[in-house]
Amino acid sequence: MDFRLTEEQQMLKDMVRKISVSEFAPRAAEIDEKEEFPWENNKILEDNGLLGVQIPEEYGGAGAGMVSLAIVIEEVARVCASTSVILTTQALATDPVLIGGNHEQKLKWLKPMAEGASLGACAITEPGAGSDVTSILTTATAKDGGYVINGNKIFITNGGVSDIITVVTYTDKAKGHRGISMFVVTKDTPGFSVGKEEKKMGIRGSDTRELIFEDCYVPEENLLGGPGEGFKILMKTFNYTRPGVAAQALGIAQGALDAVVDYCKERVQFGRALSEFQGLQWMMAEMALKIELGRTMIYRVCSTIDSEPDSKDIPHLASMAKWFASDSAMAVTTDAVQMLGGYGYSREYPVERMMRDAKITQIYEGTNQVQRIIIANSLFR
Ligand SMILES: Cc1cc2nc3c(=O)[nH]c(=O)nc-3n(C[C@H](O)[C@H](O)[C@H](O)COP(=O)(O)OP(=O)(O)OC[C@H]3O[C@@H](n4cnc5c(N)ncnc54)[C@H](O)[C@@H]3O)c2cc1C
Repeated sequence: MDFRLTEEQQMLKDMVRKISVSEFAPRAAEIDEKEEFPWENNKILEDNGLLGVQIPEEYGGAGAGMVSLAIVIEEVARVCASTSVILTTQALATDPVLIGGNHEQKLKWLKPMAEGASLGACAITEPGAGSDVTSILTTATAKDGGYVINGNKIFITNGGVSDIITVVTYTDKAKGHRGISMFVVTKDTPGFSVGKEEKKMGIRGSDTRELIFEDCYVPEENLLGGPGEGFKILMKTFNYTRPGVAAQALGIAQGALDAVVDYCKERVQFGRALSEFQGLQWMMAEMALKIELGRTMIYRVCSTIDSEPDSKDIPHLASMAKWFASDSAMAVTTDAVQMLGGYGYSREYPVERMMRDAKITQIYEGTNQVQRIIIANSLFR
């Protein structure tokens, strides 16, 4: 397989790098410090058509595919992980509509999200249901030609800033995962409210919320796919979104390596630049290896999604990319702090933020333990 970028992809990469360096990098530390959602950066993503890169043009996107989305996420995460979360979350919210929605639903909800006019969130997790989605308690009960949703979701990214939320519920608990259904709920729906904001270790510019559904009535046209199709839609969504989280991890790692290389060229100890010490050169070589391997795995799974979207290889390739790239990001950023010494630990330099930002990529959209389960299952299918 040839992973060279096409001319269009290279142009996209150059364009996003330029925006990231000039607009996002200077604000990254302040966004982290103030723990504020980066509305200005969101507007820049919207104005440049970056919130629906992989969505077909018919539904308001660029129709540029998953490799392109991975390129965009990497470039943004390289300088500001919090801003890159807007991209990964928009994909997590739009993909259930793209996968499970009919034409009318796509025009109504996918299009405004892909165009960037509406922000999206995807609500799966609950206090008692994280890795095991089937233990959710949220229910959707059929009533008057629609459904009444009741339940509490936690840790929902963009929960407090989104217009459109895709929600995972049970329509028939007795059927287990075959009784799970996904709905679209808009923020103005009576019975829907936003709860407390989570205070976090990293990606502190992203909005992480509790969402409450209390006798929240939605018409039948808000059901994605049929009743009981929610689990299938969700699993397919993850197959397409985990490579995005992997790209986010990759960007964070690349940003840390860039900072290390710059620092080691300048910093002098024992009369020599740090970059001349072989002990540190070998650490940098190892960082570069992890980053390049991760990038290769991400392009491999993304190009498979683009060329063969129903390939049976996608679930385990997506899990491998997410697991490897996120573990690499954690290792690379931790080493980056070490290599900058005391300055690495200081908030004057970006690597401590990158180390805190990297951690979440090992946890959300399936922890790396869950990715191991998926990969192991693929060996026996
Ligand atoms: C910042 C942030 C943003 C998030 N955004 C969203 C969002 O937008 N939407 C959403 O729905 N959720 C979101 N989440 C939730 C996230 O996806 C879950 O936290 C994650 O899936 C893990 O679930 P849990 O926290 O309940 O951990 P648990 O499932 O309780 O896991 C605890 C530990 O046990 C391990 N474990 C669990 N089961 C097994 C097993 N079978 N074998 C081995 N080990 C196992 C896990 O790997 C983990 O280490 C977010 C979380 C955070 C922190």
